[in-house]
Amino acid sequence: MDTLYLILFLLILLMGSVTTYIYYLKEKKSELAAIKRGFCPKCHFKSIELSDQRSAGCCGPKMVTFVCKECGYTNTFSMHDSDCTI
Ligand SMILES: [Zn+2]
Repeated sequence: MDTLYLILFLLILLMGSVTTYIYYLKEKKSELAAIKRGFCPKCHFKSIELSDQRSAGCCGPKMVTFVCKECGYTNTFSMHDSDCTI
């Protein structure tokens, strides 16, 4: 009986973390969508600026950091570029 409770507990824990992760990805995606339109997802001003851009290699994912001049919002996104320009 104890093992059953343990498995149930672990299952709930796993489901909880998966839900949090999916929610986090969804949130990140909607934030990126706002940023791509030039809006800050926090204060909704058109004051988003690209502050940093790093890429691991030619075809690797790019780490792009956006900063809002209005409220100080900062977020880093990893982007996959389909075209490879050196
Ligand atoms: Zn802002």
